Amino acid sequence: MPRYKLVACCLLASAAGAMTRVRQDPGPLEPGRVRVQLTSLGSPSRVRLLPSEGSETIADGTKLDGYGPGRPIELSADGDRVRLGDRSVERAVVSGTLQEVLIERLRRLYPGSVAVTARAGRLQFQNECSLEEYVTGVLARECPASFHTEAQKALAIAARSYSYRKAYLSKQPLCDTVHCQAYEGLTRIPAVIADSVRETSGLCAWYDGQPIDAVYSADCGGYREANEDAWPGTRPIAYLRGGPDAPSPGATPFCDRGPKGLWNIRVPRSRLLTLVGKALAVPTVEILDITPGGAARRVRITSAGLAPMDLAPGVAPPAEVGMPSLFKLFRGDEWRRAIGASQLKSLKFQVKLVPDGVEIQGRGNGHGVGLCQFGAEGMARAGVSCEGILKHYFNGIELAPAFSPGAAPVPAASPGADPSPPP
Ligand SMILES: [Zn+2]
Ligand SMILES: [Zn+2]
Repeated sequence: MPRYKLVACCLLASAAGAMTRVRQDPGPLEPGRVRVQLTSLGSPSRVRLLPSEGSETIADGTKLDGYGPGRPIELSADGDRVRLGDRSVERAVVSGTLQEVLIERLRRLYPGSVAVTARAGRLQFQNECSLEEYVTGVLARECPASFHTEAQKALAIAARSYSYRKAYLSKQPLCDTVHCQAYEGLTRIPAVIADSVRETSGLCAWYDGQPIDAVYSADCGGYREANEDAWPGTRPIAYLRGGPDAPSPGATPFCDRGPKGLWNIRVPRSRLLTLVGKALAVPTVEILDITPGGAARRVRITSAGLAPMDLAPGVAPPAEVGMPSLFKLFRGDEWRRAIGASQLKSLKFQVKLVPDGVEIQGRGNGHGVGLCQFGAEGMARAGVSCEGILKHYFNGIELAPAFSPGAAPVPAASPGADPSPPP
């Protein structure tokens, strides 16, 4: 990555000779670098690290000799400490160009450094690398390599802006799951993805003097949601407005994928009854209110108690006859969590009663705020540039480099609360 030359981990204060004492605390983040909690690695009790050429191993601030390429480092958790050979340490850091992490059958390659600590017999991992390396890893997981180059570049700039804001302005930890952005280091990076990051190197989308919280989702279902509609309680953000994801109102959306963009799930009656509380009769699900884009804002499940006249002649009345109706109200985001966000892909859906529950037919995938990935792909295929794509999804933004060479992170005014939903 040309813009930010690889700095062998900032922990390495000085160089030559064995047993160099260096600070154990990772210290403040240098411009152009990020730290990512590797929660997707789980919490194993042991790990193997294969250092790359020129790597260094630091245990509690002491540089260790005897580890390097071809010399795997075996680490295991021992309570809140890490066992490394016959040493018991608080924190072990392997740094260099590319570290291979092996946990049973899982294999990942991380640029920069990997720090290992332990908590209650389980290992925890943190990767520190350049922002550009991180964005490359994110784009490889978040953007299909088959996407048009301009769509890839737009998503690279969005991912960089989002990461910049979180790391430097909100100062929140980045994790490697879809909670922030999926990231598996530099494991299996398609060349076209690396090219798209390199061609946009350092560029962020800016609004009002700050890189933006450039949220994105897979498919907005044809209409972008305003942030306060998707995430009730967040303040409206000027660059995250709702609107048709189409060249003009009423035109075919950029993200229209025909039947591929539609989905269908069944929620069994037993699940609905668990959500509403016990009752015998068939529960109904109603959408009470929708956003301008057609996403459910409030959902109600009702389960009516049986009245004696509902019974067929001669049928003995069950105990539930005369029970009061039960209902429960959900905000859209609560409803999505209740059913499961991977099942209920978006809040743009319709409900149909079926004999054993309800059938939910929907379109779109994700929260629908900010950049729509399939829409970006549709725009790129229609000849729109990455800048045009970003200006369609983020109102009023400009593109500019995140850092001037050698400068500290932009000393922005207070970033305020970000519109993204809480964890
Ligand atoms: Zn996260
Ligand atoms: Zn869309």
